Amino acid sequence: MQGSANKNQTHTCPVCGNDKLKSKPYQNMPPISPALYEAQPPYENLWGKASYEVCGCCGFEFGNDDNGMDPELNSTFASGLMDWLNDTGGEWFWPEDKPANWSLSAQIQRAGIPLSDEAKEAIEQLDR
Ligand SMILES: [Zn+2]
Repeated sequence: MQGSANKNQTHTCPVCGNDKLKSKPYQNMPPISPALYEAQPPYENLWGKASYEVCGCCGFEFGNDDNGMDPELNSTFASGLMDWLNDTGGEWFWPEDKPANWSLSAQIQRAGIPLSDEAKEAIEQLDR
């Protein structure tokens, strides 16, 4: 694969579903499916080298938010989503990257991210 990376290819954030990531979050991360959310961080231990890319939407940093100095504070994809919703109300980390007519529920659905009841409720509130 080395040297053959397609510069135009984008990747989907497993936390919020933003599909404009420049790199795969972890080298061997499987496609998004409910099973992905049963995995426990640090994800690097499961799927190889992290990209350290910061998602422009939810602000999750792969390899850092799930693998920090204090393991007790490591986020899962699901807890990262909840933290982002609770802390910012779903504000884009880089607001200039936010598409026009953006909808978080549509983005999540398109990505196929399974939601907890708590997350569903929080997202419904935002769409109101
Ligand atoms: Zn994200």
